[in-house]
Amino acid sequence: MKKLKIGWFSFTCCEDSTIVFLELMNEHYKDWINLIDFKYFRTLKNNNDMTDLDIAFVEGAIANYKEEEMLKEIRKNCKKLVAIGSCACTGSPSNQRNFFDSETKEEIQLILDRFGHRDKVSPLSEIVKVDDFVSGCPMSEELFLKKLEQYLKEFGVVNA
Ligand code: SF4
Repeated sequence: MKKLKIGWFSFTCCEDSTIVFLELMNEHYKDWINLIDFKYFRTLKNNNDMTDLDIAFVEGAIANYKEEEMLKEIRKNCKKLVAIGSCACTGSPSNQRNFFDSETKEEIQLILDRFGHRDKVSPLSEIVKVDDFVSGCPMSEELFLKKLEQYLKEFGVVNA
């Protein structure tokens, strides 16, 4: 039986949308296990494979060069990339340092340089093409479920 191959990724953020997703599993896991192949989901399992994904759900903003490279890699490996939650969609609120005054920016520069941080924290769409957005802080459960149903149909996992 065909399954929707998904990956779930978290970058700079508080990971609350991941918690929302896990809570949704309490109710939906029995259905999802027959419809969804969780290829990459580090909160759920140790063996993860990010290649050949139908959908990559990406939570969080991009704060450093390592995250930027990983995001580009995810983009190469998925058919559809979906930004999950406000930080991924708009950068906020994880991008607070973008709005520091110049004195505070100067103070943190050493840390930024030392840990490979970018000059600014960016939403996903400033770095790669984003196909869809699930807004909210954390993500809206209702919107996520609606979109997931739509993707299951779109990828031919359930009948349209
Ligand atoms: S959008 Fe809100 S809940 Fe989600 S990671 Fe950012 S701060 Fe946390």
